[in-house]
Amino acid sequence: MANLITLKKVNKFYKNNYQALNKVSLNIKRGEIFALLGPNGAGKTTLINSICGLSYHSSGTIKVAGLSLEKNRMAIKSMIGLVPQELHLEAFDTVFSNVCYSRGLWGLKNNYDYINTLLKKLKLYEKKDSLLIQLSGGMKRRVLIAKALSHNPKILFLDEPSAGVDVELRQEMWQIIYKLREKGVTIILTTHYIEEAEEIADRVGFINEGKIILVEEKKKLLNKLGNKKLVLKLSKKFIKIPSFLNIYSVKLTKNGRELEINLDKSQNEAIDIINLIKKNNISFLEFDIKKRSLESIFINFIKENTNDKL
Ligand code: ADP
Repeated sequence: MANLITLKKVNKFYKNNYQALNKVSLNIKRGEIFALLGPNGAGKTTLINSICGLSYHSSGTIKVAGLSLEKNRMAIKSMIGLVPQELHLEAFDTVFSNVCYSRGLWGLKNNYDYINTLLKKLKLYEKKDSLLIQLSGGMKRRVLIAKALSHNPKILFLDEPSAGVDVELRQEMWQIIYKLREKGVTIILTTHYIEEAEEIADRVGFINEGKIILVEEKKKLLNKLGNKKLVLKLSKKFIKIPSFLNIYSVKLTKNGRELEINLDKSQNEAIDIINLIKKNNISFLEFDIKKRSLESIFINFIKENTNDKL
């Protein structure tokens, strides 16, 4: 897939001289779902706002569809829809007129067919004449998506789409996102909710303290790092990892009472390890095979990143 958005060494300093983005280089491919993951304050919103042209980056280059943001700010903005976390909606406006208004802001003519189809897709059509004040939280979230899509953008940014939504709405949002991708829309979402990235992203990028620390295809990431681990509850406390296990990626946890061994893809690996442990007379109370999540991978990366600096 070709790159649609390219960032090279992007820095952002706020007025108080705080550096919120630190030499961010990143490519987003046309038609993918890209999840930007990071803890609160990592720089996700700053990054999105910089690409969307809502705030000015301090140095480096941002290109969208081959155009440089510095020279083509308006053209780029019109290619992008942004679903913010929250937005003050005009309480006494109807859904229909509010979405039409958003389209008008782009200098586009009314297109009732397009807006009606959009509202149908987002299951908002029945509410088109309702006042925004009458809508539930979930419906309001859908209106935000409709507004972001009102000018038919090719790129959609969603800032924390699952923040504060219930399980049902989250599933529905994911279905909406999949359908948009099918139509060729490139989707970039930020989340600190790792299961969301694990569920829907094609690629993930981890950001911490304004730096991109890893970008990888989600499947590759989970495979490369092994997505399962063997957890053994030990009969007695260990101070260090027995040396015969050094060929594996092992961690001693729970104050020396548990061993966690990352597994790769071979089927019998867990059995081989258990046999090896028995052969070395290490007794354990029970074992379990657990799924490693992107979360544990992310935490490891944050730790490594922090250690580098110490
Ligand atoms: P995230 O979206 O990952 O939670 P943000 O991009 O909102 O992170 O913020 C990144 C960092 O920049 C935070 O430390 C935040 O306090 C700081 N920051 C955000 N906006 C401003 C601002 N207008 N002025 C100064 N610092 C800011």
